Formats: sequence, C-alpha cells, structure tokens
Amino acid sequence: MNTYKIALIKGDGIGPEIIDEAVKVLDAVAAGCDFSFRYEEALMGGSAYDVTGDPLPQETINTALDSDAVLFGAIGGEKWDTLPREKRPESGLLRFRKELGVYANLRPAIVYDEMVNASSLKPSVVQGVDLMVVRELIGGIYFGEPKGREGDKAYNTMVYTKDEVIRIAHQAFKIAMERGKKVCSVDKANVLDVSQMWRETVEEVAKEYPEVALSHMYVDNAAMQLIRDPKQFDVILTGNIFGDILSDEASMLSGSIGLLPSASVGDNVGVYEPIHGSAPDIAGQGIANPIATIASASMMLRFALGESAAADRIDSAIKKALSEGYRTQDLAGFDAKEVCSTCEMGDIIANYAAKE
Ligand code: NAD
Repeated sequence: MNTYKIALIKGDGIGPEIIDEAVKVLDAVAAGCDFSFRYEEALMGGSAYDVTGDPLPQETINTALDSDAVLFGAIGGEKWDTLPREKRPESGLLRFRKELGVYANLRPAIVYDEMVNASSLKPSVVQGVDLMVVRELIGGIYFGEPKGREGDKAYNTMVYTKDEVIRIAHQAFKIAMERGKKVCSVDKANVLDVSQMWRETVEEVAKEYPEVALSHMYVDNAAMQLIRDPKQFDVILTGNIFGDILSDEASMLSGSIGLLPSASVGDNVGVYEPIHGSAPDIAGQGIANPIATIASASMMLRFALGESAAADRIDSAIKKALSEGYRTQDLAGFDAKEVCSTCEMGDIIANYAAKE
C-alpha cells in the first residue's frame, strides 16, 4: 500500500470549506485503490499571519517540501488588505511559488456539456472545449532585468534563456502525450527576438516527441482563435505574460470561476489549486462551489502521483453530478434540478467517485 504525503493549505475565506470537500473525495476514491493519503495541514495567508505574524511561515515551506504534493485552497481577504505589502496574504503565495520553484502553470479550460449556457459565447462554439494552457511562470518580462524608471521613461525586459524554454516545452509535450497529442506554441516571433529563440527551441524539443503535432501561432491571432474556434486547441504552450492573458481568456470559455482547477509545477513539489480566490463575500455560508478544488485534486492525482485511473474517476464523478442537475448556488440558474450546499456537492461527487 502506497501512502502519499499531501500538504493541505486551506488558507482563508472559503479555503477551508472547499479543501474539506476535496479531501472527502480523495479519501472516497482511495478507498477502492491500493493507495492512501496522509495529510499534513499547514498555514498560509491571513490565517497564518494571525497566528504567526507571517503569511508564509517557514514551517509551511518545510511541510510542502517534505510532501508529494500540495493541495491549496485560497488566501486573502479585506481584513489583511491594509497590512504592509510583505505581510499581506498574496505576498505569502508569491513567495511560496518561488520557494517551490514552480515554473509551469497548467490551466485546463473545460466546458462541461451541462454548462454550455453559462458561457458568454454561443453553445456551438464552446461545447466540447477541453484545452490546457501551459504557461511559463517564473521568467519572461515579469522578472527580466533591467527594469525600472528614469524620469519620463519606464522599461521592462523580456528575457528567456534556452534552458527555461526547454524545461517548459518538455512539460507541454509530456502533457500533450497524455491528451490529444497536439501542442500549439504561442509567441510573437514576427516582432520579438526572444520569441524567435523560443520558437527555434520548441522545435528542437519537439523532435523528442514525434507523436505530438506541433504548430505555432502569434499571440494576437491566438487571442482571436480562442474566441473564434477554441476546439482547435489541445495544449497551448506559451510564456509568462502571454499565458497570463490567454489563460484568463480561456477560463471564461467555461463561464464559471467555481469549476476550474490549476496546477503550478516544477522539478520538485507541485501546487494544485482552484483558479478562484478566497471569495470572502460567501465564506462561512456553506454555499461555495467545491468543484474547482475537487478537480484540482484530480490534477494532483494525475500529474503529481501518476494515479490517472483515480483522476479519471473523479473527473467522471464531477461530470455525472452536473449532468444529474446538481448545482451549487453560483450555478443555480443553469438547468439546476437540485441546488445543494458545498458539503452536499462534496458528498455527491465522493459517492459517484467511490462507486464508479
Ligand atoms: P474571488 O475569486 O475570490 O471571487 C470573485 C467572485 O467569484 C466572488 O463573487 C465570489 O463569491 C465568486 N466565487 C469565487 N469562487 C467561488 C466558488 N468556489 N463558488 C462560488 N462562487 C465563487 O476573487 P476576488 O473577490 O477578486 O478576491 C477575493 C480575495 O481572494 C482577495 O483577497 C484576493 O486577493 C484573493 N485571491 C486569492 C487567490 C489565490 O489564493 N490563489 C486568487 C485570486 C484572488
């Protein structure tokens, strides 16, 4: 029996509520398998600041580094918004990603059949969308030097080394091998030197994955194609700033923030978390949608632990709950047969995941 060590960081706001449901589903799925989980809770964000005076205590970093994966809820809230920058919950999260060296952000955009009406695009455009944006997370123009301001001039620099491109490209190709075997690399190679090097390097890495079809697209065209015909994409590989914009655009194809998971991975421990924040406006009411976090737990099983069959069971259980008409409050307007609480949605998905 394999026992996986999972660091649980519940965080603030709805974080504890949604993580509890993901744990419920993980335990249900493990019950029929030859593995189990050992959870260790760690503090981050405002709740960590309240207890320790630091939004990211060293103990949390240690716990994360000593685990097989981190399942993360969300951090932040008005209560901590007036603190000095380095004490704020968001600073803790950025520092955490850096400490763990997570250089790849994986953001799937899935449109569940039952949710096609939640999108602002026509159902015929979004039905069947299932794509993954692989964004480079710790390089590019957000981190490049030199940067600064001089009088009336301000500047940032877009820098990538070949090694940085190679490692993120491998992530994208490996993921494509598990999916539809297509990678579309997005850049601005018609204008930027850094994009020309990006493109040449991706071509080199592609030779190691002959089964994967590689295409290239300029970022302006990609922004348009995501809206025009998102079904053409399987894996989108791109740099930090382009990925920041495109992954938010892609997430809106599904129309609902409460459904989408994400992962931030590197060569060490990965962090699995919903794309939404701590939703202080609904915290403690038992109405948060736990599906994005449950889907993040599924990504953790697939990408960190190699338990794809168990991940498939969770994904089918989510689809089944939605197709049976179960909805949390945020999606009550979309063909709901029964509106349920956070905890009830967790029970339903856990039940389906255990049985299937
Ligand atoms: P948010 O994502 O928390 O909420 C935006 C809206 O979506 C709110 O109306 C909220 O009620 C709703 N919502 C979000 N998740 C939901 C869910 N699971 N079920 C139902 N409804 C849901 O974004 P915000 O309001 O801009 O930020 C609130 C706090 O979260 C801020 O302190 C912000 O800094 C923080 N934040 C944290 C993260 C993170 O931890 N990774 C990410 C984004 C924002």
